[in-house]
Amino acid sequence: MLDIAIIGSGPAGMSAAIYGTRTGLNTLVIEQIYHGTGQLSESSHIANYLGIPEISGYELGEKFRTHAAQLGVKFQEGKVIGMEQTKEHWIIHLKNDTQIESKAIVFATGASHRHLNIPGEEELTGKGVSYCATCDGAFYKDKDVAVIGGGNTALGDALYLSNLCHKVYLIHRRDSFRGNPESLTKIHQKSNIEIITPAQPTEIIGDDASGVTAIKLSADRTLAVSSVFVAVGMQPSTTMLEGIISLDKAGYIIADESGTTSAAGFFAAGDVRTKQNRQIVTAVADGANAAISAEKYVAQKNKNLDCSQK
Ligand code: NAP
Repeated sequence: MLDIAIIGSGPAGMSAAIYGTRTGLNTLVIEQIYHGTGQLSESSHIANYLGIPEISGYELGEKFRTHAAQLGVKFQEGKVIGMEQTKEHWIIHLKNDTQIESKAIVFATGASHRHLNIPGEEELTGKGVSYCATCDGAFYKDKDVAVIGGGNTALGDALYLSNLCHKVYLIHRRDSFRGNPESLTKIHQKSNIEIITPAQPTEIIGDDASGVTAIKLSADRTLAVSSVFVAVGMQPSTTMLEGIISLDKAGYIIADESGTTSAAGFFAAGDVRTKQNRQIVTAVADGANAAISAEKYVAQKNKNLDCSQK
């Protein structure tokens, strides 16, 4: 049986793995499939991670991964579809019908891209609708594109795409942006970014052969674009926890800085938990905190077991 099962291999999971493995506890990282260290790998440019003035998200993720591998962190690929708590431990169910038993769990599955849920979005995903400007931006070199959203991701995407594309429409549903004012200042200095507010996308137009050709907005406005980059935030990957762990209204795991949740031995780390700031550095700190909490929990559990056997 494992001491600590870490579910998810983004910055929070990697950090928890390093802490768990270094204490000598039997620790395993379960990841769906490895293609870069979580959401981080989608950021073209990270300039706010302490000690590393400038790096791409993918490179920073590879540094985390290499560090973990050098310390002997164990990884297993598998899609977690559910879990249950017995009196003694947790049982993690994987999609391939296997089970993993562990005394404690650090849940660090992050969050996935929120969708607009408008006509055309699903049908044209991969044919012009994208959730990752740094992954797909180069396909739309010298074209007109739209970015939807008003947070840091949307602002960063608009700036990134303005260096590749002919024109970028930044479309946001409110007049004020929640992203950093410094990024907004840079956007205002770009002659090929047009801000359109307040505006809500209502339909994405296109077909299989041509891909995206236009986006319809509220107030009957239509813009001819070749791609729509949707950057309207993230939603936590917690559906499997409903009824097992307390979640907030948006589905985030209710947990404090120690990662402690409503269930004994189940700790949450990173973007998946309720918190003020979802940043790489806060995810890394969460991973460390949750692993330390898990270590304490396992130590107490082992002590109780020793006492009951005497
Ligand atoms: P976010 O901050 O939650 O912003 C989402 C944006 O999408 C908001 O402006 C929101 O509008 C809009 N939106 C949500 N649902 C919508 C809908 N159905 N239709 C139209 N618009 C919708 O998400 P994020 O930008 O992905 O950032 C997530 C976290 O990562 C944040 O804490 C952010 O600071 C952080 N981040 C940091 C960096 C960095 O430091 N380099 C880079 C990227 C992200 P309203 O404003 O009206 O709610």
